[in-house]
Amino acid sequence: MRILVISDIHANLTAFETVLDDAKGSWEYVWCLGDVVGYGPDPNECVELLKTLPHLCLAGNHDWAALGRLDIRTFNPDARRAVNWTREMLTPENTAYLEALPTTFVIGQYTLAHGSPREPVWEYILEPIVASLNFSHFETPYCLVGHTHQPVIYELLNDQGDTDMVAPAYNTMRQLNGRRVIINPGSIGQPRDQNPDAAYAILDVERNTWEHRRIPYDVASVQKRMAKADLPERLIARLAHGW
Ligand code: ZN
Repeated sequence: MRILVISDIHANLTAFETVLDDAKGSWEYVWCLGDVVGYGPDPNECVELLKTLPHLCLAGNHDWAALGRLDIRTFNPDARRAVNWTREMLTPENTAYLEALPTTFVIGQYTLAHGSPREPVWEYILEPIVASLNFSHFETPYCLVGHTHQPVIYELLNDQGDTDMVAPAYNTMRQLNGRRVIINPGSIGQPRDQNPDAAYAILDVERNTWEHRRIPYDVASVQKRMAKADLPERLIARLAHGW
């Protein structure tokens, strides 16, 4: 079975639809690694579109924030404003959907978490040393995470914990060969690697092949809806730059 692996949609319906269109025909099931909402202008639309797909979805920190489960004083003021707006906008049905999301999932050879296997909702794996410390926190060969909005592969090289950081090779199938890896597909709705294009991946769980992909979407139309919703200027601007 081929899996469409997505993460950090962040209420960006245009990017989400563009990814589904681009990935058409190359998957049978969706694994969503969390943060369906927060930042963007379309929280209900994104939850509702996701619900129409055969999928499983994890909870991310922004999903929890929108539910009021988190103390958002640690969020920056712009993120806080977006959280409060999202909370007001979400319908009771979509709030209930987010309420029910698990924080980790283990399927076959794959462990899934939003942030990291060690701290599923919170931890950012942004460097090899942090990835290295996480390999002892899951038992499967492979782990998939989101949260940083940066596509990457961390590969465990030896028993000493040495870990390599491998940049994504887009539209190229990588054979997972039993060597332990932590992989991030990147973010659909708010990429932060200086590339504004929506990121996702296709995983074949029988062949264990992984393919990172990128696709440009109509950023301006999302920015227009954000301005209309009076969401923070900085959050609107960052979409065009991928940070
Ligand atoms: Zn996120």
